[in-house]
Amino acid sequence: MSERMPGFGAPHLTALNEGYWKAAGQGRLVIQRCDDCGTHRHVPVEICYQCHSRNWHWDEVPGTGRVFSYTWVDRPLSPELAQAGVYNISVVELDGVVGTIRLLTNVFGVDKDTLECDLPVKVAFDRVDDEIALPVFEPAFALNEAERVSAGKVSA
Ligand SMILES: [Zn+2]
Repeated sequence: MSERMPGFGAPHLTALNEGYWKAAGQGRLVIQRCDDCGTHRHVPVEICYQCHSRNWHWDEVPGTGRVFSYTWVDRPLSPELAQAGVYNISVVELDGVVGTIRLLTNVFGVDKDTLECDLPVKVAFDRVDDEIALPVFEPAFALNEAERVSAGKVSA
C-alpha cells in the first residue's frame, strides 16, 4: 500500500511495466525509449508508435515538468480511499523527453489555492514496498524560484 495515499493498492506489475515501478523503487524516473528513433513513450508498449521498432530501453529522465491538468477528489470513490482524504489527480508533462510524455499522477505539497496548470513540479517517490514506488510530484519552487518570480506567482 502506498505510504502517501493510504487505501491505494499496489500497481499490477507485468513484464513490460515492471522496470518503471522498480526504477521508482530505487528513486529513479525512467521512461521507455525507442532504440531506433529515440522517441520516448508512456505507458509502456511493445512497438514504437513512431517507427514500429520493437527495440527499446529504459531511459532515466530529469523528473521535472509542469502540471498539464488536474482535478480534486473530494469524495472517496471507495471506502478504502476515505483514508486518503481530499487528493488531486494530476497530469504532469515531463521535461527532457523526445515527444510528449504525460504521467497520470498526484501532486503533493499543494492545496486548492496553489495547484494550477503550468505549475513547475519535480518527481518524488511514494513507496509501496521494498521493491517498488509510485512516481508522484511536488512543486519545484526551490528549483524554479526565479522563474516563479518572473511569472508573477511570488513576490521577489
Ligand atoms: Zn521508434
